[in-house]
Amino acid sequence: MFSVLAKLGWFFRTHWVRYTIAIGFLFILNFVEIIPPKLIGDAIDAMSQGTLTPGRLAAMLGLYALVILVSYTMGFTWSYQLYGGSRLLERTLRHRLMRHFLDMSPPFFERNRTGDLMARATNDVLAVSQTVGFGMLTLIDSTTFSATILVTMAVWTHWKLTLLSLLPLPVIAALVTQYGKVVHRRFTEAQDAFGDMNDQVLETVSGMRVLRAFAQEQAEQERFERVNEAVYRRNVAVARVEALFDPTIKLLVGASYLIGLGYGAYLVFRSELTLGQLTAFNVYLGMLIWPMLAIGELINIMQRGNASLDRVQETLSHPQDVRDADDPVEIAVPEEIVFDHVTFRYPSSSVDNLKDVTLSVRRGQTIGIVGRTGSGKTTLLRQLLREYPPGQGAVRINGVPLTRIPFERLRAWMGYVPQEPTLFSRPLADNVRFGAPDASREAVIAALEMAGFREDLAALPDGIDTMVGERGVTLSGGQKQRIALARALIRQPEILILDDALSAVDARTEARILANIRKLRRGRTTFIATHRMPAVEHADWVVVLEDGRMVEQGTPQQLLGRPGSWFREQYHRQQAEQSESGPADEPEDVDGGVRDEARDGEP
Ligand code: ADP
Repeated sequence: MFSVLAKLGWFFRTHWVRYTIAIGFLFILNFVEIIPPKLIGDAIDAMSQGTLTPGRLAAMLGLYALVILVSYTMGFTWSYQLYGGSRLLERTLRHRLMRHFLDMSPPFFERNRTGDLMARATNDVLAVSQTVGFGMLTLIDSTTFSATILVTMAVWTHWKLTLLSLLPLPVIAALVTQYGKVVHRRFTEAQDAFGDMNDQVLETVSGMRVLRAFAQEQAEQERFERVNEAVYRRNVAVARVEALFDPTIKLLVGASYLIGLGYGAYLVFRSELTLGQLTAFNVYLGMLIWPMLAIGELINIMQRGNASLDRVQETLSHPQDVRDADDPVEIAVPEEIVFDHVTFRYPSSSVDNLKDVTLSVRRGQTIGIVGRTGSGKTTLLRQLLREYPPGQGAVRINGVPLTRIPFERLRAWMGYVPQEPTLFSRPLADNVRFGAPDASREAVIAALEMAGFREDLAALPDGIDTMVGERGVTLSGGQKQRIALARALIRQPEILILDDALSAVDARTEARILANIRKLRRGRTTFIATHRMPAVEHADWVVVLEDGRMVEQGTPQQLLGRPGSWFREQYHRQQAEQSESGPADEPEDVDGGVRDEARDGEP
């Protein structure tokens, strides 16, 4: 249970001055605070014996006043240092968690749910910080403070009386330890349940449009009630044990009073104890209640802290799935990219998602990657981003395996545009500048125009200063895609990766954008994964994937001329469809339709 403090040793060592002051003052106060009862007892005895002179009374009152003053100053200082420290730990842990999240690659986020990660960064961090704040206080008060009071009672009043009236003490310790174990188990369950609930709230809020469109509010409410109920039941289970702590302790402390008063009166009667001593004894016994309660609190709070710290550590100790090599090789310009018999499987997959893919790309080439949905286009491109631990075979750049090229370097080369891009809640310009923080306004506008966003830009209320993302204007899927494209283009990356990046843009606009890209990308490498064959008709090489395997490859002309080719068949079918339906404006923007429905439903 106290291992939580050992596990936090690094923190106490870093902030040793703070904790020396806090604990030192708390310790000194232990001794300062046992003076007043002694003063009271002495005063009563002096009065009953008629020996209290005005001078002695003044001295006593003066000492009392000094004690109060010292308590005030030191009390403020330890409290400020101790609780300040717990906030500091909170900040430090959050910082580490965020740093860790940023270091993690997709497999980590596939294994951990967002809501649970958020719960760890909030609830659990708070529980740990309480351990080093209030927990430390209870630790000191329940050990050194109670020991000081006990010794004082035995020495200054009557040792037998002290011993007898403290018989219930071991019982308290035994019971409280038992309760503590139960608290630990139930609290862990409660925190886990809270994580689950968090996760569901997140999913509900982000999926609200779909929920409404499919009229799933009622079902969602019921589903939520179930997790909410689970969190409630688990927390109540914790509360039930915690509720036992105080009454149990008060009961046993009451028993102590009973013994103290009964036996004490007997001792006074037999003149073995003065009235003043009995009074002081009772005040000391009263002072013992808090340290006894603190034992209970201590166990409780240490258990919570320990459970939570374990959850935080578990997250923090998750190793990076993809790390820089120990012997990195520097390459200035990626002249040649080779996939050499690459076979790859996602950590959570039970079949190979890429099978024996071999492909060679020279700088300046444009490679088209086509195939049905789920055929492995994204998976193939992701190999270049090194998001997952590598499979068999190797991807090499200039003959150097990707695993030996420093990450920073690799990322600096890439401009990646996913099918479903993320826009952040910032002005449009900042979203584009993501790829090149120092880019001028002109460069941002030029990149947006390259990405076919000129007309859309004119329609936005504040041009490139318009807020977008979750808290900004609502953009269509096609608009988001084109902004994401501008974000990649502005970097002028060595390797541009378009992963079905224009799927929500109409075919005519796509063709115009691709023509821009062709001009802009002369001399640099571009990968285009798409489900529209005409989009890669100008590519230098086209690869057709099926079930993770390369089933066709060649120049577009070769494939178009090859009877029975899947590419050729799809190409002609899509061209026919396009000329039949005529140029439509972003017909695939399903997202927009759902959104409109959702909006109609709003009050
Ligand atoms: P495409 O881009 O051609 O639509 P993907 O490369 O996305 O295809 O998917 C190829 C296969 O890999 C699919 O069967 C898909 O279910 C699987 N897959 C994709 N991403 C993951 C993942 N993160 N974990 C496990 N399997 C995945």
